Amino acid sequence: MNSGRCDRMKGGIQLRGEEQGKACLMPFRDTRSKVPVAMLSVIFLACLFFASPAIGQSAKEPAGKLRTLTTARQAHSLTGEQAAHAYPVHLRAVVTYYDPNYGNGFAAMFVTDAFGSIWVNLPANTFATLPAGTQVDVTGVSSNGLFAPVIASPNVRVIGRSSLPEKAVRVTRSILFSGVYDSQWVEVEGTIHSFSETDRTVTLRLEMPDGGINVLMMREASANYSSLVDARVLIRANAAPVFSRVKYEMVGTRLMAPGLAAIKVLEPAPSDPFNLPATPIDNLVRWDHISILKHRVHLRGTVTLFWPGSSLCLRDASGSICARTREHTPLAVGGIADVVGFAAVEGDAQILTDVFYRSAGKGEPVAAIPMAADDIVHGLHDSDLIVIEGQLIGRDQASPDTTLMLSTGNVIFTAVLPKSLKGTEEDGWENGSRLRITGICSASVNAESSVLREGVAEGEGSLVAKSFRVLMRTPGDIVVLQKASWWTPAHALLLLALVLTGTLIALAWVIMLRKHVLQQTILLRESEERFRHMALHDALTGLATRLLLDDRLTSAVEAAKRHQTGLALLMVDLDKFKEINDTYGHQAGDEVLRVSAQRLLQAVRKSDTVARMGGDEFVVLLSDLSNPRMAEEIAANIVATLAVPVHFAGGEVPVSASVGVCTALAEDLDVDFLLKNADAALYQAKAKGRNCFYVFTPSQHRTKTESIA
Ligand code: GH3
Ligand code: MG
Repeated sequence: MNSGRCDRMKGGIQLRGEEQGKACLMPFRDTRSKVPVAMLSVIFLACLFFASPAIGQSAKEPAGKLRTLTTARQAHSLTGEQAAHAYPVHLRAVVTYYDPNYGNGFAAMFVTDAFGSIWVNLPANTFATLPAGTQVDVTGVSSNGLFAPVIASPNVRVIGRSSLPEKAVRVTRSILFSGVYDSQWVEVEGTIHSFSETDRTVTLRLEMPDGGINVLMMREASANYSSLVDARVLIRANAAPVFSRVKYEMVGTRLMAPGLAAIKVLEPAPSDPFNLPATPIDNLVRWDHISILKHRVHLRGTVTLFWPGSSLCLRDASGSICARTREHTPLAVGGIADVVGFAAVEGDAQILTDVFYRSAGKGEPVAAIPMAADDIVHGLHDSDLIVIEGQLIGRDQASPDTTLMLSTGNVIFTAVLPKSLKGTEEDGWENGSRLRITGICSASVNAESSVLREGVAEGEGSLVAKSFRVLMRTPGDIVVLQKASWWTPAHALLLLALVLTGTLIALAWVIMLRKHVLQQTILLRESEERFRHMALHDALTGLATRLLLDDRLTSAVEAAKRHQTGLALLMVDLDKFKEINDTYGHQAGDEVLRVSAQRLLQAVRKSDTVARMGGDEFVVLLSDLSNPRMAEEIAANIVATLAVPVHFAGGEVPVSASVGVCTALAEDLDVDFLLKNADAALYQAKAKGRNCFYVFTPSQHRTKTESIA
């Protein structure tokens, strides 16, 4: 009915004619009670393999010469390539399934004739209803469906009423799931475990000895489908593929049945199973209960877990079991419940499926069994209420449920709390915390890789659980025993990063501070130097100040005493300087002072000191003077030099100076004496008429006035 990709399979059911179709199918029916199903399958497949091409025509045969196909089997046996050539089809058959609105604007039906069945696509609502058993005349063309050929563009004419085809191939679930009976009219036997319904359709869940299958049918208004639950039945229906929604690959098979008319009840459902005597839970694991075709059982016990719409677990005096349910009716954990369902084995665990339950009053709380991980892996605590401690190592973020991963010993296990029950997350559910988990132990065994339990003889066939989950009931099932240490690797790294960052910042700060201090020190030194220079040097002339002169004078006196030499002090004062200021202005006066200072410096030796004492008064210190005459020569030179007019503002300022000279030999040397007598000599020079020098020599006690004029 759908994909045409499985040509290999379809090739298997290609037949040259109708007789071959009979030859291949008949052995199944005739010998099914004598020959094992597997052998029949082999015969069938071999038969199909050696069957010749469907209609003896090449796949590339021109459309105009195509032969009309007259049976469902001929049409269904085409390869995908052949079916795509639109072979004309004209057949008479019985409707075995009809859906007036199958989807995507199509109605659809299975029609079955004496040789097989095929899927027919029709425009939606071609017929409002087409009761199963209606005889129809169908003309159309072959088409390549998603899985096998179908009839497209049909013209369907109702001929009359008939009954459903009697001949149906008896099949198992395994054979059906192989796909070789695609579309065919088959018969299955099993027990109906449940049903689900929509407005239009009903799907029965039929359990067969080798597994379950869904049986789809159009809903019949007056039918009571619940009465079918737990009934053993024979159902005839067409086999249809189930596709994955991703690549449209066939992933299974379902049955499409014409309705209740195709169901034969072999053994009706027992009366209300809640009225049956309760079976001890441990009895279910006995062989006489391990059968899909057994009826529902009734259990009574204390509820140890209830996940609405999903699972419940029960404990009685003999043992524990968990069950799958689709019911949401509230059920108190710790209360007594009556439960009915079908015993089944899932993985390695005994469970109940398709469960219904009723509350049966209050019960005694079930004490959780304290467990270590090894006990669970090697033990028999599946479905029991346990309590186990472990360290939280992570959680499944992708799951909507609270799914914690814990480690204990060498074992890692998960603890699950469904989204609907998870409540508020507690403080302390962090990685590294030590938790105590209470819940139902759900162990799982990988049958392929299971190993024998230590200490158990090989023949006993016991398995070791490979992993287990703890199914929790409330957030209260998680108790924080010890919160995670702050010293997680992440925190340690964070702290290290912070310390490193802090150190770097401190280092940078120290470097900056050091640089700043250095800058400030340099500025301070510069400023100190500047102040020192300002203190020791005259701002206007750059000459030494009185302070520096005092220092030099003291040093010179000591040096002269040490070396037994002499020195001279010349006191220089400009003549009538007030008048210069008054006549030429203060700026001219300043210029005269500057020029006079330079002239004084040029008039003395480099080792001598020229100082400005203030106003227009200068002092010249001539150190290391061996000959007093030299002082007189210099004084004369000074008088002459300073008498040269000074250029200012394009004019000349007449200027002159008077000089008082005091010389002293080593034995007479004294600073005050020198200053006092140089000043006295200057006074004498002024008194003598200015523009001259006067020498005071204490040892000789003589005075002399020299005029440069
Ligand atoms: P004398 O010949 O007796 O020395 O007469 P004098 O006019 O020069 O008298 P005195 O030496 O007492 O006068 C000094 C004058 O120098 C007084 C003051 O107005 C002037 N003066 C002092 N300091 C400065 C200065 O820095 N710049 C200028 N332009 N004038 C100054
Ligand atoms: Mg003067």
